[in-house]
Amino acid sequence: MVPGKDVESVEITDRDADWHRFLKTRYKKELDELSREYPYKRSLYINYRDIESFGKTGTELADELLENPGKVIGDVKDAIRTHRLVKTRKKDEQPDINVRFINLPRKIAIREIRSDHIGKFISVEGILRKTTEVRPRITLAVFRCPAGHRTVKAQSYGPFVEPDGCQADGCTQKKLELIPRFSRFVDSQKLRIQESPEGLRGGEQPQTIDLDVIDDICGTSAPGDRIVVNGILRSIQRNSYGTKSTIFDIYVECNSIEVAEKEFEEVNISEEDEKEILALSKDPNIYRKIAHSIAPTIYGVDDVKDAIALQLFGGIAKEMPDGSRLRGDIHVLLIGDPGIAKSQMLRYVVRLSPRAIYTSGQSTTSAGLTATAVKDEFGDGRWTLEAGALVLADMGVACVDEMDKMDKHDRSALHEAMEQQSISVAKAGITATLKSRCALLGAANPKYGRFDDFVPIGDQINMPPSLLSRFDLLFVLTDKPEHERDLAIAEHIIKAHSVGELIAQHNREPIPGVDEEYITEQLKPVTPEIDPAMFRKYVAYAKRSCFPRLSDEARETLIAYYMKLRDLADANKPVPVTARQLEAIVRLAEASARIRLSSVIEKSDADRVITIIDTCLRQVAYDPSSGSFDIDMLATGVSKSKRDLIRNIKQAIRDIADENGRAHKPDVIEIVRQQGFDRDEVERQLTAMLRSGEAMEPKHDVVKLI
Ligand code: ADP
Ligand code: MG
Repeated sequence: MVPGKDVESVEITDRDADWHRFLKTRYKKELDELSREYPYKRSLYINYRDIESFGKTGTELADELLENPGKVIGDVKDAIRTHRLVKTRKKDEQPDINVRFINLPRKIAIREIRSDHIGKFISVEGILRKTTEVRPRITLAVFRCPAGHRTVKAQSYGPFVEPDGCQADGCTQKKLELIPRFSRFVDSQKLRIQESPEGLRGGEQPQTIDLDVIDDICGTSAPGDRIVVNGILRSIQRNSYGTKSTIFDIYVECNSIEVAEKEFEEVNISEEDEKEILALSKDPNIYRKIAHSIAPTIYGVDDVKDAIALQLFGGIAKEMPDGSRLRGDIHVLLIGDPGIAKSQMLRYVVRLSPRAIYTSGQSTTSAGLTATAVKDEFGDGRWTLEAGALVLADMGVACVDEMDKMDKHDRSALHEAMEQQSISVAKAGITATLKSRCALLGAANPKYGRFDDFVPIGDQINMPPSLLSRFDLLFVLTDKPEHERDLAIAEHIIKAHSVGELIAQHNREPIPGVDEEYITEQLKPVTPEIDPAMFRKYVAYAKRSCFPRLSDEARETLIAYYMKLRDLADANKPVPVTARQLEAIVRLAEASARIRLSSVIEKSDADRVITIIDTCLRQVAYDPSSGSFDIDMLATGVSKSKRDLIRNIKQAIRDIADENGRAHKPDVIEIVRQQGFDRDEVERQLTAMLRSGEAMEPKHDVVKLI
């Protein structure tokens, strides 16, 4: 037998000298720092590029790291130990230094991880979705048998292993006891990352991978963080109900974590792209073009498309000297009858935004829209903090469908998430504040499925007023039959379908007379003017490079508009518009200037925004009986004029009531009528009050307040 033939041919080289030389020349400063700071600092971070650029040996070492990381990490630790590269103040101390590698050249997508990566050093990028608490994990378990012998068993990720019996010579004891005092522990944490939304196309579900993190890098990142994880891919055998399976699960034994806060950097914009973007921005029809590039298959709803355009570009987030932050993200809510393409619109927006997430209010994950702390099997008994959609969409757009169906927990957490753009979790051992700096595009159905013309809008929106007021724009979309519009939609839909059929048939068997040109022509109405890939680049470019400021004219226009709305409220009228709306107006104007890539917010921007806001207010807060806008109507569902009516009716009852509080109904109606209200309206309101229990009618034509 040839020696070494049946053993895997591992090249035995003396790496000790190589690593020693490398560390001495390249990492002297870092090692000295560790000597001074140990044990507070106990990790040596080695940049992969430094190894690679270390001559011929460097290339070898670098390759070896990728192929055989376990050995290399051991080699470097050995080199540090044997040559005493870290000398602490305590003479005989052997410092335990972690060796961590960063800046790997090639990142691998989570969905591309395969079995041949097992045991290799890999670098994966993703968003942190779940983190457990940091808890000690036993790495070296020391046991004692009744006879007093000690047995040591090393432990790794996975189940706890106990020795079969006492290992001391001649001892047959089986019952061993763990002695934590002599055992060794390390801080440990389990994380789960998932693919970032911008890497997903066409509604793919993001894939995830778990990470095992130990020692000083535990607790350094929070859910929602974008990180690059470098580590060794490990496998662990599945075990179902005590039976071992042939299927293995994989996880990454994490070596280092790098933060990847890149905002819109991941969208690559070439010089040609930039030229095209700049040309587009100077196009006098840019607003029309942008709006026509948003869901061209959906007919009409132009005002919604204009609003979504503004939302995609966004206003400017401002940091104030007192540390507070004003959000720049624009929140939009679409409430409407079923079947008017709300969901369709949301799905399209996901394609147009450089970073977006689509989710339903009735979320399938336990984290829902915001974040939760749970104790589940993932954490092996530890509490786990899990990020929801708004955290994962940080710095992007969260498209939330069926928002009215979200659960109670999300409903309350959403207030903070939308305005402060953070989500605080305080439960059990976990307290955390996660970032949710995203724009929210919500869709909801009316409370009773469809809008009822005879019930105030406010009553039909199944969301608390405090939440509604956080939306910059709120669209109420009713699906009322309207001959001309219906016909246009019908033609538009049929056209799209028939062109689709034509293409399908043509692809199967060429139809005479049909060619590329003809198809392009036919497809024109449903083809976006700016192609989605370009659109994403345009948005990314604008967000990255354009920070417009209000011109004097625009400022005056906006203030005048705001004051006009406020002035609609004289002393006893409601406050029609709150300061929140003024902030919304400014944000929208900023976004409008961004679409042109202009550094100045012009009067035209202000006018455009005023038109959109007027449309929205008219739908929800316009009180036809007094001719004024009334945000309170949205807030309470009761318009100012109706509130006045209720108050007057109550006052009238009190004024003429006998000692038992009873009043003659026709008299009450007459008094209120004389105060300028319509008789029918007074009667209707009084009936409503009787029905709702605010008043009662103990006898015919006698009313009494409750
Ligand atoms: P919703 O979420 O509002 O209940 P969907 O987004 O599921 O509605 O839309 C239902 C269907 O009707 C979709 O296939 C959509 O394309 C079509 N549709 C509705 N309104 C329009 C429209 N205005 N233009 C084109 N298609 C429409
Ligand atoms: Mg829907």
